[in-house]
Amino acid sequence: MDDARAPAKKATPNPSTSAAAATATATTTASTATTIPNASASASGLLPAPSTTAGGGNNDAHGPLPLRHGHELPFVAPSSYLRPKSAPRAMPDKTAGPLDKEQMQGLRDIREFLKVRTSYDVLPLSFRLVVLDNDLLIKKSLNILIQNGIVSAPLWDSHNSTFAGLLTSTDYINVIQYYCQFPDQLNQVDQFRLCNLRDIEKAIGVVPLETVSVHPMRPLYEACRRMLKTRARRIPLIDTDDETGRQTVVSVITQYRILKFIAVNNEQHTMLLKKPVGELGLGTYTNMATATMNSSVLDVIHLMVKHNISAVPVVDEDYKLLNVFEAVDVIPCIRGGAYDELSATVGDALSNRAEDFAGIYTCGEDDRLDSIFDTIRKSRVHRLIVVDDDSRLKGIISLSDILKYVLLYGEEDDSIRS
Ligand code: AMP
Repeated sequence: MDDARAPAKKATPNPSTSAAAATATATTTASTATTIPNASASASGLLPAPSTTAGGGNNDAHGPLPLRHGHELPFVAPSSYLRPKSAPRAMPDKTAGPLDKEQMQGLRDIREFLKVRTSYDVLPLSFRLVVLDNDLLIKKSLNILIQNGIVSAPLWDSHNSTFAGLLTSTDYINVIQYYCQFPDQLNQVDQFRLCNLRDIEKAIGVVPLETVSVHPMRPLYEACRRMLKTRARRIPLIDTDDETGRQTVVSVITQYRILKFIAVNNEQHTMLLKKPVGELGLGTYTNMATATMNSSVLDVIHLMVKHNISAVPVVDEDYKLLNVFEAVDVIPCIRGGAYDELSATVGDALSNRAEDFAGIYTCGEDDRLDSIFDTIRKSRVHRLIVVDDDSRLKGIISLSDILKYVLLYGEEDDSIRS
């Protein structure tokens, strides 16, 4: 649906703003793009497969995780394209060495690239866009997302013919919280429409997310800054017709799509990023929010809300990584408005994952950022879980961590402003 494609002629954005579940295609420039091989997860989603290390290629180090009956994880199969692991490194020199200078040069080159490319460039040659009418019942929107194999959709206010925000798994999590706070109102929850989402936020005391969007022809760098500032993991591209002043939803770009675009088009720059992620402090290594296979889905949702995160690693009693529960895993759990089934265990919920689930990516602290970009170039990576040689959880590297580092590290003003 959204693989990057070969270069194409630049074309005018193709509007797609019809009600309910409209689909549309658009043509765009995808620069030097490539067809991305599908990460090969194990076939059934329950069969065990070895984990992929992002860097290193040393599969002994972070090799197959122990199997748990019923909870085996569709780890991505080892990939031959990963670079050999670098030799153990000495303690970093505090003064900038050649490696630091090279790294900084790589970052500068990538930033320049982002400044001369537009968000429009990121779009694949052909794609499908599902836009939901704001009057749609929330319950129905769930089914449409599931049927279309997507996890978010722009909303359209057909009364005013305007873009009305972006529906994401966070909205469903808010509905779940509403249900938890007002359990006797299940009937009312069933009748909620997408236009009621803001009322739900108010009722549960959630600070509404800024409705952020960018014009597709603005520099990609701007879209990235805006995403970091608002902590949005995806951003809608909204165009406005000069003559009529009417808005058009062109598409939505995600952090994943942007990093893939960087990886595919900047190999000569990403290969300069030779510093290990542990040395860079890339990601989060303390106060990790984790769950076990027996945690209830509801508890994990509360954890995600409390920490404002989109994924919770699932570990065993030895803190060994078994799987990851992602915010998008919530969507099938409440299919058909089954909010009362959230007491199911994480293990049960994960065993219902789609067969094409991309898998879990792991890396070690001594894996280098260039290897991570290699992995992003070739696979559908949404985060990397940092593990030690015994598969014990050490930390997590989100795409937002990588994007933030690539955009802001070493900048004099590294505050996140748009
Ligand atoms: P994300 O929600 O994945 O965009 O991550 C937002 C921030 O929270 C990033 O800095 C991550 O490193 C961090 N983070 C993500 N997941 C977890 C987790 N389970 N525990 C602690 N921090 C996390």
